[in-house]
Amino acid sequence: MRLRVDPVKCQGYAVCTEVAARHFSLDDWGFAQALVVDVIGADVAAVSEAIADCPVRAIRWIAGPGESVGDGAAPPGTAG
Ligand code: SF4
Repeated sequence: MRLRVDPVKCQGYAVCTEVAARHFSLDDWGFAQALVVDVIGADVAAVSEAIADCPVRAIRWIAGPGESVGDGAAPPGTAG
């Protein structure tokens, strides 16, 4: 599973860096960037929480090779 931060939507609220610090940091301009794009195992829960908590819905799941994804709010393979 992979994640993506939309640089246009992100407003730098930094919720994601608090919830899933291993996967997100803020760049020099105060906007989020994904540190680890490929998410596995126990990290899925933390990134899912960051996705749910982002005030502007700037983070979403994207499909990796052989995966399908719905609206990006749920991990690939779990969305209808
Ligand atoms: S929580 Fe959302 S708006 Fe805030 S820094 Fe992270 S991606 Fe950007």
